[in-house]
Amino acid sequence: MSKTLIKNGTIVTTSNEFVGDILIDGEKIAAVGQNLDVAADEVIDASGEYVLPGGIDQHVHFSFTFKGTCTRGFETSNAAVAGGTTTVIEFVNQVKDKGLIESIENYRKEKADGIAMADYAFHIVMTDPRPEVIDEIPSLVEAGYPTMKLFMAYKGQFFHADDEAILKALMKAKDCGITVMVHAENADAVDILEKRNIALGHTEPFGHVLSRPPMVEAEATARAIHLAKIAEAPIYIVHVTCKEALEEVARAREAGQRVCGETCTHYLTLDASNLAKPDFEGAKYVCSPALRTAEHREALWKGLNLGTINAVSSDHCGFDWAHDKHVGIDDFRNIPNGAPGLQNRLAVLWTYGVEAGRITRQKLVDLFAASPARNAGLDHRKGFLSAGYDADIVLYDPRGKSVITNADMLHGVDYCSYEGMEQIGHVDKVFLRGQLAVKDGKYIGEKGQGEFIPRKPFGTMYR
Ligand SMILES: [Zn+2]
Repeated sequence: MSKTLIKNGTIVTTSNEFVGDILIDGEKIAAVGQNLDVAADEVIDASGEYVLPGGIDQHVHFSFTFKGTCTRGFETSNAAVAGGTTTVIEFVNQVKDKGLIESIENYRKEKADGIAMADYAFHIVMTDPRPEVIDEIPSLVEAGYPTMKLFMAYKGQFFHADDEAILKALMKAKDCGITVMVHAENADAVDILEKRNIALGHTEPFGHVLSRPPMVEAEATARAIHLAKIAEAPIYIVHVTCKEALEEVARAREAGQRVCGETCTHYLTLDASNLAKPDFEGAKYVCSPALRTAEHREALWKGLNLGTINAVSSDHCGFDWAHDKHVGIDDFRNIPNGAPGLQNRLAVLWTYGVEAGRITRQKLVDLFAASPARNAGLDHRKGFLSAGYDADIVLYDPRGKSVITNADMLHGVDYCSYEGMEQIGHVDKVFLRGQLAVKDGKYIGEKGQGEFIPRKPFGTMYR
């Protein structure tokens, strides 16, 4: 086994930081300390750089279909690694008439194994809550997929879940340590508002914003939390985007309920004015829930600092603008929902969080790696720089400024959500289970380098 010693970097953990060394032995971290006096095959000088755990993106879509279009797949997962994310968790829709595990495993064989370039895991999206499917839920644990998501949004789509499905899932899942996650938007309210906006002539991308005001998210968030209370189950709210939804989560937490949630990079840094861009450019920013305003952004940063929400994901959706997004050129309801961001998560959090004084470096490590690891049940081998853990390590060079451009993105789509924004520092090196996969900011890994990672039930946030 080859040994690599990373020397003199500033090692950042969720609680402290210090100039020190990390010894990698094969795929694992063998030692972390100060002035490690050990032999190694290779020594890397990380002076002036920050040493962070590889990121965990608990919310990505490598095969999300919407109105006949589909996002780019695992063949673009090197974009994650290039941006410092070494593990991604993909959402797999249960296929009609198939079981939960069968749906994941068919997907895995066809679309991920031997292709993925980051380590990977899966959340199942329950779309067909037949009694046999509800009964199958406990077996997700042994299969290593102990999380499931339900979509309260998207009326009329096959993946929409009603309250009955959610309550049944919560009741079944809690006894075996499975975390239920929900996309919280009131599907009926969105449907009515969409129709009204179309009737008023708002067919353009901004109609999406007008049809998804914060209250549709807040209402569904409150309802999901109440359903979890009825089931006496924990619940996780994906992509919290607004003050009102955040308040629902905060209130439940204060009352002692086991509720938590995430937000996403774009909700922290972009706003709804992007959807008003002319010449259909606004379609690039159509994602659900919709982008908000500066007031909501600041509330989200505050929510992260208070721990009301505990992770920042990308909700990466690699839809092309020229083709996929144009399906909705005459009607915003047909614009595929989602935006790319897989590669930008760390640098954007660094620049607009740490450098802007909104979060500490410790908090960044927590939101980017440690909490997602705990949420997902990966914290026994991912998300921390400790001996025995997978050697997923990022060297972030904080020196220098650049402008974010799609030319540097590996996500395989024709635009970048953060185009033209300033970035401070960059991902210099990334180790994926001990192998150098990014060198001098360039991806040098290979197809199939990612490994499937089985997860354990109930992240520690619930204990
Ligand atoms: Zn999503």
